[in-house]
Amino acid sequence: GPGFDLARVRADFPILRQEVRGRPLVYLDSAATGQKPQAVLDAITRYYTHDNANVHRGVHILSERATQAFEDARETVRRFIHAKDVREVIFVRGTTEAINLVAATYGRKHVGPGDEVLISAMEHHSNIVPWQMVCDAAGAKLRVIPVDESGALRMDTVDALLTEKTRLLAITHVSNALGSVNPIKELVAKAHARNIPVLVDGAQSVTHFPVDVQDLGCDFYAFSGHKLFGPTGIGVLYGKLAMLESLPPYQGGGDMILSVTMEKTVYNRVPHRFEAGTPDMAGAVGLAAAIRYLESVGMQNVSQHDQWLLAYATQALQSVPGLKLIGTAPHKTGVLSFTLEDVHPHDVGTILDQEGICIRTGHHCAQPLMQRFGVAATARASLALYNTPEDVDALVKGLNKVREVFA
Ligand code: PMP
Repeated sequence: GPGFDLARVRADFPILRQEVRGRPLVYLDSAATGQKPQAVLDAITRYYTHDNANVHRGVHILSERATQAFEDARETVRRFIHAKDVREVIFVRGTTEAINLVAATYGRKHVGPGDEVLISAMEHHSNIVPWQMVCDAAGAKLRVIPVDESGALRMDTVDALLTEKTRLLAITHVSNALGSVNPIKELVAKAHARNIPVLVDGAQSVTHFPVDVQDLGCDFYAFSGHKLFGPTGIGVLYGKLAMLESLPPYQGGGDMILSVTMEKTVYNRVPHRFEAGTPDMAGAVGLAAAIRYLESVGMQNVSQHDQWLLAYATQALQSVPGLKLIGTAPHKTGVLSFTLEDVHPHDVGTILDQEGICIRTGHHCAQPLMQRFGVAATARASLALYNTPEDVDALVKGLNKVREVFA
């Protein structure tokens, strides 16, 4: 079973109550973005209705409240990922900006000519392109850990790929396109044995199971609020304090300084050094509300539901003739990527949409991974804590309809 009252959790997400195209909405695209519980919507409204002001500057009561709300949100994030120190939590726009921040600071400082950055074949474009840019600028080389036929990381290749030239291992915790879960702890141990720091793309992991950055031991961890059932425009970069303190600033501007003269600027302390300009206060408040919501359900329960529904969906999809699952790694989360014989994924998505079923089709911002499996695109159904076996049944019914249309 799901480990919590699924009907009650589902009722907390108002968007799911609607009919689309004359049918109850079936939302199976949470890997793209998550829906928002009422608690998040309320927290954002409350912030703008009662507390809104700019942070860290005013002497007045509203500025004090806004600053308090923003810094409380930072503490909520710290607790959620089990960071040691609240200063290790930097607010950014999302996973993409978090990775670009590390590329612009750590990458610029530490990656030089002839060096290497190691990523994997299952990365989202946002954990490929910033490193290509760093390598191009530095004259360094991007190296890639391959994946096997099931979509699991080829752990047997890692030792040889971590060399004395490797400056960083940047790798996803969970593949957005396949759901594969990577053994981060083991990878960190291998990298740290060679003094190589590790950045983890956590965009698809924090939504599915408990994450403890101290236990993982990684140096950086990045994720987006909007996938975690919070608002868009807010995300988090976790970095170990000593690492963050050793890095040059990212963007220049207000709030990231202690003093400025025309000759010289003294940069602010961590984390403010990396947060130039007015931050997304309401976004941080909304993200904190999403985290509190998830804590109330319990991330262990969220994980149990994910594995339960994934098993159900995997079996149900296998009953559809001509359907081929891509991504069958032994350790995976609720992502079902597939192709349907003789039907273009885009047509699968379009016909399902007519049935009120939302899935994603395309390359999922992971074109090299698609190439690895010899496809240009897949159809992807992705699960979240509000999805039910009925959602999966509707998908299977919809896919059988697709087959009829193309028969
Ligand atoms: N990494 C992974 C694994 C993702 O799934 C995504 C979002 N699809 C990103 C990075 C980028 O996240 P965002 O667009 O929120 O910055």
